[in-house]
Formats: sequence, structure tokens, C-alpha cells
Amino acid sequence: MISYIGLGSNLDGPVEQVKTAVNEISLADGIRVMAVSGLYRTAPVGPQDQDYFINAVMKIETSLSPEDLLKRLQEIEHLHHRIRTVHWGPRTLDLDILLYGNDTVDLPHLSIPHPEMKRRGFVLVPLLDIAPDLVLPDGSSVSDLVRLLDPDDLKISPVVL
Ligand code: ADP
Ligand code: MG
Repeated sequence: MISYIGLGSNLDGPVEQVKTAVNEISLADGIRVMAVSGLYRTAPVGPQDQDYFINAVMKIETSLSPEDLLKRLQEIEHLHHRIRTVHWGPRTLDLDILLYGNDTVDLPHLSIPHPEMKRRGFVLVPLLDIAPDLVLPDGSSVSDLVRLLDPDDLKISPVVL
């Protein structure tokens, strides 16, 4: 199945955190990386008294079920010593399943498509990089969703490496 993963970090060297995570995901059994977006610097969502985020999106092909994929990604989050404190607060690594093929998953601990993705510039803009023609299960296209974003949700800039 083709799946898209969102990556984010705003602690302990966020660029390195995200690059290392891409590498770890690429080494996982049952996952093949097909594309990785550029890295973007993003103003924080929620509490503003925290550092900017580095965000990216990757396209993978996976033989894992959505739940096994989530488990694998959570193991990788733990490798980065992610400590859950404040909701939407600082984190060393956040890995979200954005899409899993055209499937919709509605479990208490797993919602796909990721419920926030349609409103988040830091998800949609990198997604547009690697999947310009992508359409969500509800029929909305990524390019239309980007056009509908509020200027405030577009406060993101490419990281020059
Ligand atoms: P957020 O990513 O919204 O800032 P967290 O990363 O702390 O929040 O996520 C908390 C919980 O979200 C996870 O324990 C996981 O079970 C749940 N979750 C629900 N849907 C998804 C998804 N599509 N991808 C990743 N986690 C998800
Ligand atoms: Mg998350």
C-alpha cells in the first residue's frame, strides 16, 4: 500500500532529528521509501512559547497494516526519546500517518486520513512537493487544499541545507 507519513520536530537539533527519522523509517522491515519532501521551517501550532518546527513528508510503500505501521513509527519516536508533555507542545519527533492508500481508518487510537492534515500548511505544502496530483479519500485535492489555506497557515519556509 502507498502511505504518506508526516514528520515534525522542534527540539534537540530538529533538522538532524527529521533526517535521522527518514533514515530509520527507510531501514524498517516492510517499508520502502519512495519520496521525501524538502524540509520546511514552520511556526508552532498551539502554544507559541516554543521553538519553530522542522517538518517534512514522505511517501512510502508498505506491507504493514495501518496499526502495525503506527506501532513501528511509535517505536521510532521512542528512539528519539520523545517525551509527551504538553498537547501540541515541544517534541523531539512526531510521526503521523497522513494517508494509507485511499483507506479511511476510524479507531480510538488511529484516524486516517490524519484529522488535521487538511488544515495544516506544514503538511500540505511538503505533500504538494512529492504528490502534486494527490487526491484524498473524500475527493479533495492537495493542490485545492493548499489554495484554501489561511495565510497564517502558510508561515512556512523551505530549509536550505
Ligand atoms: P499530534 O500528532 O496530534 O500532535 P501525538 O503525536 O501526541 O499528537 O499523538 C497522540 C496519539 O495520536 C497517538 O498515540 C496515536 O495513537 C494517535 N493517532 C491517531 N491517529 C493517528 C495517525 N493518523 N498517525 C499517528 N498517530 C495517530
Ligand atoms: Mg503524532
